[in-house]
Amino acid sequence: MTIPHRAQLTIDLAAIAENYRRLQRMLGEGTRCGAAIKADCYGLGAAKIARVLAAAGCRDFFVATTSEGIAARAVLDSARIFVLMGPADDDRGAYAAHRLTAVLNTRDQIEEWLARDAAESALPVALHLDTGMTRLGIPLEEIESLLRERKNLQKLKVCHILSHLACSEETENPMNALQRDQFVLLSERLLPLWQPRPERSFSNSSGIYLGRSYHFDIVRPGAALYGLNPTPGHENPMENVVTLEARIQQVRTIDAGRTVGYGATHRFPGPTRVATLAAGYADGIFRSLSNRGAVYVSGHRAPIVGRVSMDLITIDVGHVPEHLTRPGSMVEILGPHQSPDDLALAADTNGYEVLTAFGRRYQRRYLPAP
Ligand SMILES: *Cc1c(COP(=O)(O)O)cnc(C)c1O
Repeated sequence: MTIPHRAQLTIDLAAIAENYRRLQRMLGEGTRCGAAIKADCYGLGAAKIARVLAAAGCRDFFVATTSEGIAARAVLDSARIFVLMGPADDDRGAYAAHRLTAVLNTRDQIEEWLARDAAESALPVALHLDTGMTRLGIPLEEIESLLRERKNLQKLKVCHILSHLACSEETENPMNALQRDQFVLLSERLLPLWQPRPERSFSNSSGIYLGRSYHFDIVRPGAALYGLNPTPGHENPMENVVTLEARIQQVRTIDAGRTVGYGATHRFPGPTRVATLAAGYADGIFRSLSNRGAVYVSGHRAPIVGRVSMDLITIDVGHVPEHLTRPGSMVEILGPHQSPDDLALAADTNGYEVLTAFGRRYQRRYLPAP
C-alpha cells in the first residue's frame, strides 16, 4: 500500500550538480569549489546531496557540527570534511575515527586540540580568522598574541586558513574589501609557519560573485548550490532546485462579510471561494505569511487569506477556474512561479530560512542527477 501524501517536496539533484559546475566554471585555474552542506544541506538532505556534489567533483565539504561531520563521512569516502564549529570536549576521538578536519576558532579550542591524543592532535586542522563577522573565529587582537607564541601555533598541523564575509550579498558594501584585505594581511603572516603552506578559503556563494580577488584556493558556497540567488537584485544565475506542492483538502464558497482562520483576521469583502491546503507553519510555511503570501494554482496566483495555522493554510481562489481547485489537486507553494527567495521576501526572512524550515512531514522526492 502506498501512503497518500498531502504535501510533496521535490529536490532536483541534477540542478544541484549543474549549479556546482556553474560555480566551478567561474573560478580561475588554481581555485576549487567546495560545498557548505551544514544543517543537512540546508534542510534538503545531506546524505543524497553530498554524494551528488562529490560525483560532480567536489572534494572539500563544510559542516557545522561534529555529528554532521560523522554523518557526512558515512557517505563520503575520501573528501575532506571541515567542521566549522570545531572540536568540543565531548567529541574527543571523533576527528581521528571519522577523518574530520577541525576548524579551530579560539585559543581554547587550540589548547584543547593540542591536549588530545597524538593520533588526533596530529591531524591537519584549519584556522578561522575573524575579519569582521564577529561570530566564530580568532579575533584580530588574539592573532597578534598567537603570532608571538609561534612555537605553540607550529605544534598544530594547519592545512587551511579561512575567514567569512559579513555582507557579501551587498556588492557595494565597503566591508567586503576591508575584510578581504585584512584576511590577506593576516593570513600572509601566518602561512609561512607551516610546510606545505596552508590553503585559504574566504568566499561563500555571494562572495564568489565579488570577483577573483575573493576566491583564494577554495570557495565555500552553500545557498547558490541549492538554488538561492547569490546576486540579490539581479536575475538568479542558478537553477531552481526545490518544488513544493500541497494538496487542496477542502474548498468552500464564501459569502461577503465572512471571516477565515484563527483570530478572524481576514474578512471577505465580497463573495468568493476559499481552498484549504495541507501545509502550515509546522512545515515551514511561516506564520508571518498570514494575509501576506501567495501560492500558485496551475499558474494562477492565489493569496493566503487568514492566519497560517500549524497544518493548514487557506487561500482565496475566487478568480481561479473551478475545475483547477477540486480537492486533491496539488498547488504550487515553491516552483516555477515562486522561488524560495520570493517566498522569503513575503515572510520577511531569507531563502536560507525557508529551506531549513521545511520540517519532516513532507513526502520527499529526489529527481536523479544524470
Ligand atoms: C554557511 C557558511 C558558508 C556558506 O554560505 P552561503 O551563503 O550559503 O554560500 C560558507 N562559510 C561559512 C563559514 C558558513 O558558515
